[in-house]
Formats: sequence, C-alpha cells, structure tokens
Amino acid sequence: MAVSRIEQANSLVRKQKFDAFLVSRPSNIRYLCGYSGSNGLLALAPPKAYFLTDFRYIVQTSKEVKGCQIVIADRELISEVVKLPCFAGKARVGFEAVHMTVKNLNRIKELLPKAIFVPSENLVESLAIKKDTTEINKIKKATKIADTVFSAILPLIRPGVKERDIALEISYRMVKLGADGPSFETIVASGQRSSMPHGIASDRRFKKGDFITLDFGCFFGGYASDLTRTVVLGKANAKQKKLYNIVLKAQLAAIGAARAGMLARELDKVARDIIVREGYGDYFGHGLGHGLGLEIHTGPVVAPRSEETLVAGNVFTVEPGIYIPNWGGVRIEDDVLLTNGACRVLTKSPKELIEL
Ligand code: ZN
Ligand code: ZN
Repeated sequence: MAVSRIEQANSLVRKQKFDAFLVSRPSNIRYLCGYSGSNGLLALAPPKAYFLTDFRYIVQTSKEVKGCQIVIADRELISEVVKLPCFAGKARVGFEAVHMTVKNLNRIKELLPKAIFVPSENLVESLAIKKDTTEINKIKKATKIADTVFSAILPLIRPGVKERDIALEISYRMVKLGADGPSFETIVASGQRSSMPHGIASDRRFKKGDFITLDFGCFFGGYASDLTRTVVLGKANAKQKKLYNIVLKAQLAAIGAARAGMLARELDKVARDIIVREGYGDYFGHGLGHGLGLEIHTGPVVAPRSEETLVAGNVFTVEPGIYIPNWGGVRIEDDVLLTNGACRVLTKSPKELIEL
C-alpha cells in the first residue's frame, strides 16, 4: 500500500527527532489529513497523528479527516492539544515558524514549561511540492476553468467598460464553472495601470489603445490555477508590439528550458537574460514564477536568489513581465507541470498578441 502523507510527514518528524510536531497552516493540515475547514490543528506524533477542532466542525471532520485520531475540543485548541501524551515532560516540539502565531507560541510555552520548542520551516511543504496524479488533475481542472473564462471574457472588453466590472465577471464565471472561488483577487490593470504588476481592478474605464493585463485564477477541489494575458484594446502600436514580443520570447524560452534537476534560479535566468539583453532588465522586478498547489503562492520559488532545485511533479508558473512606469506593462503567465522530460503547459490560452 502507498505510504500515506501523514506517514511520510511522520518520518520527517522522526528524522528531526521531534516528539511532536504542530501543523497550524490550514493548507498543510488539508494536505495531510483532508480537513478543509477553519480552526483546525494537527499534532504529528509518530506513529500517530491527532486532529483537533471544535464543535462547529464535527460533521465536516467526520467526512473529511483521514488517518488521525480526532479530538473535538474547546475553541482554544492550544490549551487542548497540550493534554496529548506526546507533549508530556521534556518533549521536543517542532512548530511551523512561519505560521504559528506569537500568541499561540507564548500560550503553549506557558502550558508546557518543560518542553523544548524548535522552530521549523517547510516540513510539510517539502512533501507537498511534488504533486500526485489526483492533485495534478485538480490543477488541470482549475486551469481549464481559467482558460474558458479568458476566452469568454474578451468580447466584454470594450471602450468605456470598467476594470472592476470585468474582474467581477471573471470571478462570477469561474465559480459558475465549478470553481471553489478565485485563487486571489483578480487583477485587471489597463492603460498606465498595467505597469503595476499587482494592479487590482479599479473604477478606471478602458480606452482605445490600452494595454490590458488580466491576471486571475481559481481554486478547484482546493487547488489553484493562475493565468495572465495582456491584450490591446484596438490596434497595438509599435512599442506595445515590441515589448509584448520580448516578454513572449522570454516566456517561451523558459518553458522550453525547464527541466527536472535544474536550479530554479537558472530557469529564472533563461527568461531574465532575454529581457536584460533587450535593455528592459530593470523593468522586470519580480521572480519568474511560483509554485501552485493548495496555496496560490508556494514552492518552488522560481526567482534569482532561489536555492531550490526543480523536480518532476513540481507545478509552477512561468510569468515574465516588463513594467514601465507611466506607460504600461506586459505579463504573460502559464502554469506548467514538470515531468521527467520536457515541461507540460497546463494553461492553453493563446499567446499571440490579441487586438480587441
Ligand atoms: Zn497570476
Ligand atoms: Zn502568478
């Protein structure tokens, strides 16, 4: 039988010589035991695992949670979790440094004065970074919804229409198509606003000649997609065409070069070198991409200073961009799956410059 995720995590807990490990990040809890609600806490204590939540989630827990002993506790889970045998005496307790709140850490230290607390990073994430077939199928469904909405939304983009109305329409249509919800706040950035990489939709109305960046995605079965396309309202001018083609060239080169075994920063460099060579290096101020999973931004980090090595089973974005203040910007983003051979592009929306 396949080794369960909890068993895999427990073997990491054992390796680090923890008597107990507290998982508080909701997406990590979901990854390990299936729970998708809030106010959950998972305590790994090899060979066991305990899941704690409160009265409000009894039904949900009985449906979702697998492989754990379930503890229905008082709302303040920290004061309940300490009663488990794995925390007794001088227990060595690992916790998620990035996700445990200061309040909870102080509280648990107070309740367990003899225990030794050790901050830890990426224990669960190091497992979640490699997707299995079930996860890949959910991501594929999420990318398909994003692609469908992209082509359906284009006819609605006309002069005078507000960015915010297009953003709402995108979110609505994704949910209509079966998404759990948007995977982040939809970006619709037009005209000069397209120079803001994270330009949340505003009340600005589209004008002829605008560059319009649409960046959106959804969760399906908990898993995220993330798609960006930049289109022109009307005919593209020479500068728009030039910048668009540089970004496209950089994006295609990175997709073509992505291989398991390479450093994530080497992949970033493939795209970045092209943009730098064209003289726009200073205008590409973010990393090439980020991992996708139960979180919209997760590992691997594909950026100049990343220390990570790409492996088969990684799903991440490839999204170079050029942003020129007071003029506008372009970004093209796809979601890719790394296999043992070439990488597979999961998002299928067209990439030649669309003139609406
Ligand atoms: Zn995006
Ligand atoms: Zn992204």
